[in-house]
This record gives sequence, structure tokens and C-alpha cells, in this order.
Amino acid sequence: LLSRENNHVVRAAQSSEQSENDDFVLEDVPHLTNFLPDLPSYPNPLQKSQAYAIVKQTFVSPEDVVAQKIVTRKDSARGVHFRRAGPQEKVYFKSEEARACIVTCGGLCPGINTVIREIVCGLNYMYGVEDILGIEGGYRGFYSKNTIKLTPKVVNDIHKRGGTFLRTSRGGHDTQKIVDNIQDREINQVYIIGGDGTQKGAALIYEEVERRGLKVAVAGIPKTIDNDIAVIDKSFGFNTAVEEAQRAINAAHVEVESVENGVGVVKLMGRYSGFIAMYATLANRDVDCCLIPESPFYLEGKGGLFEFIEERLKENGHLVIVVAEGAGQEYVAAEMHAAEQKDASGNRLLLDVGLWLTHKIKDHFTNVRKMTINMKYIDPTYMIRAIPSNASDNIYCTLLAHSAVHGAMAGYTGFTVGPVNSRHSYIPISRVTERQNTVSLTDRMWARLLASTNQPSFVISDALLQERVDRETIEEINNKKINSI
Ligand code: ATP
Ligand code: MG
Repeated sequence: LLSRENNHVVRAAQSSEQSENDDFVLEDVPHLTNFLPDLPSYPNPLQKSQAYAIVKQTFVSPEDVVAQKIVTRKDSARGVHFRRAGPQEKVYFKSEEARACIVTCGGLCPGINTVIREIVCGLNYMYGVEDILGIEGGYRGFYSKNTIKLTPKVVNDIHKRGGTFLRTSRGGHDTQKIVDNIQDREINQVYIIGGDGTQKGAALIYEEVERRGLKVAVAGIPKTIDNDIAVIDKSFGFNTAVEEAQRAINAAHVEVESVENGVGVVKLMGRYSGFIAMYATLANRDVDCCLIPESPFYLEGKGGLFEFIEERLKENGHLVIVVAEGAGQEYVAAEMHAAEQKDASGNRLLLDVGLWLTHKIKDHFTNVRKMTINMKYIDPTYMIRAIPSNASDNIYCTLLAHSAVHGAMAGYTGFTVGPVNSRHSYIPISRVTERQNTVSLTDRMWARLLASTNQPSFVISDALLQERVDRETIEEINNKKINSI
């Protein structure tokens, strides 16, 4: 590594090892994380820490990168590379000079409190940083002067609770006012926990900080319970959500099993992508049919949902349907004639597909088929969002928080953290919001689900399948539009 000029890693020459692997070229890679002006010059306090003294390969080199693709065909590129996360030998901030703040924005998700706790404890225990501020109530907390001093003692038990200790809000992002406030308070590390909207706001803060020439590290920790960030392996809270969803599905199953012609409908999260519904279904085995936004379905006629329900009722006497909140929105919107509504952040508000679906099924069987059915509708979405994270997510949140702390201390900025091919990495903020991950209908996982539930694929012909694959692409474009609101 020769220098960090222009935010690009510049190398003298490729080593012999690398020349054997031609697709691995590090020069001129603008997707690598940005850093603050000047090189980090202070020794990392971790050198004196017992924990790190026993680890053989203690520090991560700024040259260590993680490739986005590990399965490639001969001669095909490995995709983009990201910096590997971890503590570095030199740090940018002296312990006593670091002044950090943490803010949480957007909806709730299991694990936010663990991330807050581990940023505070990580900064304090690993780097001796004592000056840590909690900004309360989301972005507007920066300028409405609501802050709380955070110490390991204050945050000690918060991971056992759901929600966010710092509270949250939608709307209210004012880049100028926020950066003015960061400047006034002499904050030099900003940790921002939140979803796609929050990370777009974080990118604006980073740009403004850079424009003003401030030496402030901006670190984002991406939050999405839906697991819809394309670049990282998975998002925190997803695992907990899939696990908690089992309780709702099991309850629905117990209910419908106990009555005649029981039909259970469970609505799960998933505005634009059906990962929670898909994984919760795959985990459960009592689900007869899973409906997700990516897979259009139809009710009437051959191969439709009504026919399938009737078959299962004849066969088993009951059935359970899992529906992601974003599924079938086109039908619901058309029939409810509802005007499009938006929340304070400008996100489109979805109509309740669960209520719509239960109504349609009940109407069809009662009035058309003249059958008595017992409908049970469960909407556990808020109950799932509000619980604390499970063991696996707790560990994951700790790693995310530590990565963010190591990155900011090393002087990286404008970055988010997350595992890429199971290696924790620093990812430029713009990369996590540029594309939303959705379930691909031509992917193996969806095929596994269809094989597991034996539900209709709602595909009539190859031509229709092609149309749906095209539609996936259109939806991707639409998602981008929605995200840029
Ligand atoms: P989630 O969707 O998972 O609940 P989110 O972070 O996307 O989380 P939003 O309510 O959309 O939630 O946004 C959170 C915060 O980010 C709000 O304070 C909002 O003002 C701000 N924000 C949203 N979109 C943008 C944007 N495009 N530019 C700047 N700020 C934004
Ligand atoms: Mg959002």
C-alpha cells in the first residue's frame, strides 16, 4: 500500500501471487470505503488489551479486501471488493479526543438496542472513549436538542428490551441543521442506525461533512427486518423475526386444526420482498401456501388460490396461508379505491392485504361455494418488530457494532457495515441503498418453498412466467423510484 490518494488504494506492483489471479486488481477501486483526510497516526489502544494480545493475527490491514462473488465461472470477474472490517494498527482519533454520537431512525426492528449497547461498550472498553452522546427521537433529535450521555452502565441492560432506547421518528431530516449541530457539539464520530431512508440521510450528512472539510467519521449500521439489502448476507433482526413468526403460524395452525374447515391467514412483514414469509414458511412445515410480493397470484379459476384452498380443505380439513404485507397490493388498491397515502418520510403506505384476503376467501366459500369455513386471521407484525433480538442476532449485532467502531476509529467515513460472503466488511453507504434485494422466482430458494408446501406456483405457461420475470425487473425499477422519494 503506497498511499490513500483520492480515496483509491494505490499499489506499487502486483505480487506474483496476485498475477496468477488476474481478476483480482485493487487499483482504482472507487467502491472501497472513503477515509478522512490525513493518515491515522496513533497506535491502536487495543495493542495493550489482553483480549487482542492472545489473538495471533490481531489487526486487519487496510489492504485486506472481501470479494463480493465467491462462486465465479472461469474468467468471470469477482465483482466489487470491499474493505475487510476490523481493528487496524493505527487509529485516527485519540481516546480522549473522540466524541461520538448515536442516532436511530425509521421503524423498529429486533436488535437495535444491542447495536447501541455494543457501540457504547465497544468504544469505551476497546478504545477508552468516554464521550458518547445519544441523540433522541431520530434525525430531528439533532436539532431539537434532545440528548443523553451514554456510558456502559446506562446501556448495560438495554439489549434485553425491544424497541430503541434512543427512540425513533420518521421525517425531519434537515442536512444543514444536523451538520450544524454536529459541528456545534464538536462531535467527530456519528453512528447512524436505520433503514434505507435513514442511510440515504446518512449519505447526505457524510457529503455535507466532507464539503465543509470536517474531520467527522460517518458510520451507518443498516437496519431492515425484511432482509432486503442486496449487498450484505443478511440484516439484523431478520433471524429473530423468522423465529418469532413461528409462534403466530403455530397459533394459526392450532386454531384451524381444532375446527371444521379452518382457514388460517397469517400476515408477516415484507413490503417489497418476501424473505420473512419465505423463510418462516420453510422453517415451519404447517404452512400450506405462502404469498409474497414478488410472486403475483390469482384467486379464481384453474390453478388459483380458491381451488387450492378447497382441495386442501377436502384433504386435511384445514389450511394455513402466510401472506407478506406487500403481496397482492395491486388487487387491494384496485378494489379498495383508496387514495395513495404516504408516511412522514414519504414512504408509500400499504393497504392491509390480510384483511382483504380473508374477506375474499370468506365471501367466495360462503356465497359462491355455499360452504361453511372458519376463518382465523392473525397479524403479528408489531409483536414481532417489538421483541428483543434472539441469541444469534445478538451476536450478529455485536459484530456489526464492533466493526463500525473499529472503522470510525481507523478514520473511515461514509461507510456502512455488514457481512459479505460471511466476512464483515466496510461498504460505502450508497451501495446499500442503490438496489433492494427481492426473492427471485427463478431462484433455488423459491423452488424449495414450492416443493415444501406443494402450493400452486400460479404460473400458467412459459409465456406468463417470462412476463413475471420481466415484471420482477419492472418492480426493481419501481422500487428504486419508491426509494428515491
Ligand atoms: P424503515 O423503512 O426500515 O422503517 P427507514 O430508515 O427507511 O426505515 P424512513 O422513515 O423512511 O425509515 O426514514 C428514516 C429517516 O430518514 C427519516 O427521518 C427521514 O426523514 C430520513 N430520510 C428518509 N429518506 C430520506 C432521503 N431520501 N434523504 C434524506 N433523508 C431521508
Ligand atoms: Mg424504509
